[in-house]
Amino acid sequence: MKSLKENFQKIHILIIGSGIIGKFNALELSELGFKITIVDPAQLQNSSNAALGLLMGNMYQKRRGRSWDLRRQSIALWPQWIAFLQAFNYELNIEKPLLQLTSNEEKFKKLKKFIYENDDLNLRILQKDSKFLKSINKAFQTQNLKGIISLEDGRINPITLLRTIDKYFKYKKINFIKQEIISIKKSKNQWISTTKNNEKIKSDIVILCNSLKAVNLIGSLSQNIKLKPVLGQAIEVNINDAEVDLLSLPKQFNINGKNIIPISKNKLIIGSTDEYSTKPGENTFDKLTNFLEKTPSWLTKGKIAKKWYGVRSRPEGEPSPILKNLEDGLIICTGFYKNGILLAPACSQWVANEIKNYLS
Ligand SMILES: Cc1cc2nc3c(=O)[nH]c(=O)nc-3n(C[C@H](O)[C@H](O)[C@H](O)COP(=O)(O)OP(=O)(O)OC[C@H]3O[C@@H](n4cnc5c(N)ncnc54)[C@H](O)[C@@H]3O)c2cc1C
Repeated sequence: MKSLKENFQKIHILIIGSGIIGKFNALELSELGFKITIVDPAQLQNSSNAALGLLMGNMYQKRRGRSWDLRRQSIALWPQWIAFLQAFNYELNIEKPLLQLTSNEEKFKKLKKFIYENDDLNLRILQKDSKFLKSINKAFQTQNLKGIISLEDGRINPITLLRTIDKYFKYKKINFIKQEIISIKKSKNQWISTTKNNEKIKSDIVILCNSLKAVNLIGSLSQNIKLKPVLGQAIEVNINDAEVDLLSLPKQFNINGKNIIPISKNKLIIGSTDEYSTKPGENTFDKLTNFLEKTPSWLTKGKIAKKWYGVRSRPEGEPSPILKNLEDGLIICTGFYKNGILLAPACSQWVANEIKNYLS
């Protein structure tokens, strides 16, 4: 009897879109033995390349329902995938822990309540004498920051992750087509996807991982799927202050909703999600340094060395992400909003299970 892997080798799957979601689906399905083609005209200019890569899994405060289930699964799967991918790049890792801080007393009370109500040893309230809290309060020239620490949450560098998966694709000789798909249709038992230059790609299965544009390819099936663009923005700031050593701070933390990642002694990244739009407004980037009552002097004087943004897709009228089997052999995997990096492993596992069920 032939093994499942040998049978899967005959099944051709086309993945439309090569952000982290398309790439992760390709990785998972290729490991199961399927023949994979990925198609994307602009794989470097998507929201995955703009992401900060924070994994806010255990910190998620609603500990039931689908969203929590996907987070929980991803948190469990990430270490296994990192171990697997380290064969292609030993530098890939998850930096832990993650801290969530606030200067608002009411918000701190909520964080404390969350910790008391959840018996999770990896989640703790930061005590006043915690070295992390002390170093952050000192650097940010305040006494008011309080918060929690999650020992098992952290960060994966998204660029390192995407390039590592590219190395895996090269090793596995996965077919990549640099084209935009403009239509898909089913003919007999096959899917025919047409590229902008009129190339026809035949496949047994199509997975739509092209974020906001997924709805353009599914005709009347899109009636019940609504996606909204949400801007995410980040800056890299160079500071010039001998008093502050950013490397004395934790590797990643969140203060009043802004994600902060020190990347060297005098450089840090600040990012957030604030606006429903596709282009940044006039003050979008300047506002990123404005997260405390009084901005520390070194940050006010700091120079913005880089600024960038990405557009994420957020489902309207249903929770993020959208994972649906639209019809035989057509799956949509989109609407990842703030958490595409975190949720990639759980969602690609969901897709793989759908495909296995469909083929059985
Ligand atoms: C500033 C910022 C910070 C973020 N921080 C985090 C974070 O800390 N943690 C986290 O988990 N997430 C974070 N995110 C969110 C995360 O980046 C997204 O959820 C994730 O990138 C979504 O991935 P995707 O593959 O669905 O979409 P994308 O990365 O946008 O990829 C979609 C791809 O589809 C392609 N495409 C579109 N149409 C077609 C077509 N017709 N044919 C072929 N290809 C097509 C596009 O070219 C694109 O490459 C952040 C995002 C931003 C912008």
